[in-house]
Amino acid sequence: MIRFLLFLLLGSTTIVSQAQNLYMPRNIQQAFRNGSRSPDGKPGKMYWQNRARYIISITANPPGRTIHGVEQITYVNNSPDTLNNLVFKLILNIHKPGAPRLGGTGEEYLTTGVHIDSFVVNGRTQPWGNNPGYFTTVPVRLQQPLKGGDSVQLEIKWHYDLSLQSGREGMIDSTTFYLAYFYPRVAVYDDYQGWDLTTFNDALEFYNDFNDYTLYVQVPKNYIVWATGTLLNPGAVLQSNVANKFKQSLSSDDIIHVITPQDLQSKNVTAQNDMNTWQFKAANVPDMALGLSDHFVWDASSIIVDASARRRASVQAAYNDTAADFHYMVHFGKQALEWLSFKWPGVSYPYEKTTVFQGYAGMEYPMMANDESYADTIFSRFVAMHELAHTYMPFYMGINETLYGFMDEGWATTFELLFNRDLMGNEKADNFYKQFRVAGWISDPSPDEDLPIITPGPNLNGGGVGNNQYGKPSLGYLAVKEILGDALFKKCLHEVHEPMAWQTSPAMGLL
Ligand SMILES: [Zn+2]
Repeated sequence: MIRFLLFLLLGSTTIVSQAQNLYMPRNIQQAFRNGSRSPDGKPGKMYWQNRARYIISITANPPGRTIHGVEQITYVNNSPDTLNNLVFKLILNIHKPGAPRLGGTGEEYLTTGVHIDSFVVNGRTQPWGNNPGYFTTVPVRLQQPLKGGDSVQLEIKWHYDLSLQSGREGMIDSTTFYLAYFYPRVAVYDDYQGWDLTTFNDALEFYNDFNDYTLYVQVPKNYIVWATGTLLNPGAVLQSNVANKFKQSLSSDDIIHVITPQDLQSKNVTAQNDMNTWQFKAANVPDMALGLSDHFVWDASSIIVDASARRRASVQAAYNDTAADFHYMVHFGKQALEWLSFKWPGVSYPYEKTTVFQGYAGMEYPMMANDESYADTIFSRFVAMHELAHTYMPFYMGINETLYGFMDEGWATTFELLFNRDLMGNEKADNFYKQFRVAGWISDPSPDEDLPIITPGPNLNGGGVGNNQYGKPSLGYLAVKEILGDALFKKCLHEVHEPMAWQTSPAMGLL
């Protein structure tokens, strides 16, 4: 849970900068001068992070596509600064007509966006503003400034329609939904850029605080919910035989069919209340996501990810039974978690579970992936492994993937190659990598392709995103690996993962 690789890299460049004069953004230079960052890559003496606790309740009632939510947020300002306003991320306003986007979009993608029904600050209702000029990033003035070291209680009610067209989130089919970015979230306020005012353009990725979440998902009977975090009440929402199979999977090496097509046909998998409330909890995670369906089957197993502690992680898959490749998904997920834990980066998978949900994205979320089904099962394994490799960056380390997606995508692209080499042999894996990850860049002479890797994500477009954030940095990682040798390279990666002292500092004890 550290946000430091970028600073580790940049920090080390200060040592050689006299000779090479490498570029460092001015705001990051300032963070070093302020002492919140330190040239050795460790947090500076003045380092801080803001964080929050979210208690979120949402209701979904398919095939109706309106999602209703209410949340209580305790937001803690650990910074030394007085905040006169908060900034919220309403990423789903990307679906509003007129929202700035990287590319064009069709009718079925459009919705009316996120509607804030009420906004309460420290018990007092405040107008939200609804400025039509704001879309995914919305500043809201506080009637009373939030001082450094202080916290604020927020309560927000909202609703939105899920888009018919599904990408990273949306309607998968009329009774299967994938929800991501589904709640108003306080943007990151950090020590080198203040509020994260980046406008989401449909191609940018995560930059979130580490928060604690309790999530309640209310759905009609016969709907199953898969989400980030621990399912707190399997006994209350599932029939006992299903709950037992699920519990068994948490300590089993075997792949258990928690819900089969026959179970679904009998409509006897969930508690038979009109509505069931599924409860999830996750601490120190940057985000929550969830999938729900009344006809997806559910496979689960588990695997040891920490040999000395004998700690297991659960690997689950939720999919339409007709998706042939997804029948192997739990097996693929286990292969990926084992490889990531013991080979590269060789750091125990840091969470209790992962769930691969069948959708249309190829997109990572904390403890989840929303992946498409492919006719080629080897390709499905490759995509699943790539998304699960993202667990470390951005989620566990909390890097700013919105600005510096190259660190994370470069990392996942490198590990996908090394994973494929182990499973398919060097030649096949290398050919695939060359074709899929670097050929487009090498053969494209446009100046977009020559942009420095450090170019912030919002300033890239088109092929620049794919090549600047995947193939190019991956070659960089491979070069460093070759120059340092595997042992030293691994030591560096582990250094980046080391939990830092500030995690237990008194400032963090506010929540
Ligand atoms: Zn990726």
